[in-house]
Amino acid sequence: MHKVEAVSVTVNGQAGYDIRVHDWEASVQDYIDTLNRFILDNRCYRSRRPELGACLGCDLCCRERIPVTVIDAFNLPDGSPEQAIVKSLHVYVEGQVVDITMRLDESGGCIYLDRTKGICKIYGQRPLVCQTFICCPATPKAKLLREEIVNTGEDELVRRWFKTGREQGHPIIHEALSPHPDKADYPKTAFAGVQSYKKVILKDICSAGLRRKFEKERGN
Ligand code: SF4
Ligand code: SF4
Repeated sequence: MHKVEAVSVTVNGQAGYDIRVHDWEASVQDYIDTLNRFILDNRCYRSRRPELGACLGCDLCCRERIPVTVIDAFNLPDGSPEQAIVKSLHVYVEGQVVDITMRLDESGGCIYLDRTKGICKIYGQRPLVCQTFICCPATPKAKLLREEIVNTGEDELVRRWFKTGREQGHPIIHEALSPHPDKADYPKTAFAGVQSYKKVILKDICSAGLRRKFEKERGN
């Protein structure tokens, strides 16, 4: 049995998914592999393009906010998170909040979207969010797990943005609204110093509250 499992469930009358974590020593890569397998199996309803029944031929989710983790930033073709911020990413600061996402082009699509073919030009290097999103219904705890992984990984990228930006003397900001970011809001996480999702362990990044939700459903 895999340490993390995606199972088909009906949510609001549609074929959706739930996640079971059998072992919290599972890595984020285990979680990504599980969702990739589930998505490729085509077992769930595509709420945004139900007529297609699969993702091929659709690029809608490449045209929205795609948050990026520090590991995604290492994986992008730019060579380093710092170069990725210069070439592929978008830093938006509103008040104290820093949000680092994939850069969109003038048409509102990700810069790595092949608009003619409707496919990803960096498929093997695409961010975690791209690998784990499916527009089908999911249980609240499946959504929360994904959210905690993405947010923790993005926070680590922000922490790095503070550190290297200060060293370079000019943290890059592409867009801002009353910016006053505070690095104290971004403490070190289990993503620090790691460049592979195989090295980030779920138990080290998931909150106690979330883990309790999973355990409660298992009846432990
Ligand atoms: S998951 Fe994305 S690509 Fe697939 S059908 Fe939904 S919106 Fe389209
Ligand atoms: S990286 Fe690829 S999959 Fe992700 S939003 Fe961009 S084009 Fe889409």
